[in-house]
Amino acid sequence: MPRIVEPGRRVFPVRLPFALPIREGVEAQRFVITYIVVGERGACVVDTGAAGSQEHLVRALQELGLTPADVRLVVNTHEHGDHIGGNAFFEEWAHPEFACHEAAVRWIEDLEAQQRERPIYQFERLVNRSVRITRVLHDGDEIDLGGTTLRVIFTPGHSPGSISLFCPEEGVLITADALQPVGGLPLYMDPRKAVESLRRLAGLPGVRVLYNSHREEPLTGPDIPRALEESIHYIERVGELAEEARRRLGEGAAPEEITREVLLALGLNPPPVMPLTIISVTSHFR
Ligand SMILES: [Zn+2]
Repeated sequence: MPRIVEPGRRVFPVRLPFALPIREGVEAQRFVITYIVVGERGACVVDTGAAGSQEHLVRALQELGLTPADVRLVVNTHEHGDHIGGNAFFEEWAHPEFACHEAAVRWIEDLEAQQRERPIYQFERLVNRSVRITRVLHDGDEIDLGGTTLRVIFTPGHSPGSISLFCPEEGVLITADALQPVGGLPLYMDPRKAVESLRRLAGLPGVRVLYNSHREEPLTGPDIPRALEESIHYIERVGELAEEARRRLGEGAAPEEITREVLLALGLNPPPVMPLTIISVTSHFR
């Protein structure tokens, strides 16, 4: 039974720092927010961070009077390495259930396929081993933790199998990477779906707090619809810039060249041209 730290509180964000390898000898210091969600029937962890950073989750569990062995369920919001890298850690501790959206199963179970289709430099440093998904989620599913519910909202676009989770008892919405940070790297695979997902989240009633995986502070009040709206505009702006660049450079221009132009126009200098940003920019042409 989890210790009651703050009466009524169910969702506890935990910040996991990690080093993201960029290229030979260069790495960026990043972090991802993961969550411990407690109910009467035990604890659930939403996202497990990059491999090797789970000590922070263990400490947060201890503060709640829990250990990793009390974690009954791990939910991955999506397929990416910084969200699934600690799955193997929890499998060794407690054999919890592992859940994700049906569209995310393939890339979470088959890391080679993910790396082939969405290459990341030194991906194996973020996630070194895959786990089997034992519970497949669908839009509208409710995860019942006993007095605490997580409602599954399918929000693809950033990745094929991205979900957001809404806890109605607390008015907390976990959007993971669905929110595109304005001024940041455009990171999505399907801009049309990404915008649709953001519109859907904007129409969700009862949201008091919005958590995003790579943002320190949660959003509240009028900042929530504003951030969702700005994300939509940013994605649309990237699309316009991509079209402009393609017109200027000609139909036969290399994807790297087009991406470079777009990133520079967005104010990202030096332009981080890499497989991920090339996928985002050229996804507007499909
Ligand atoms: Zn992601």
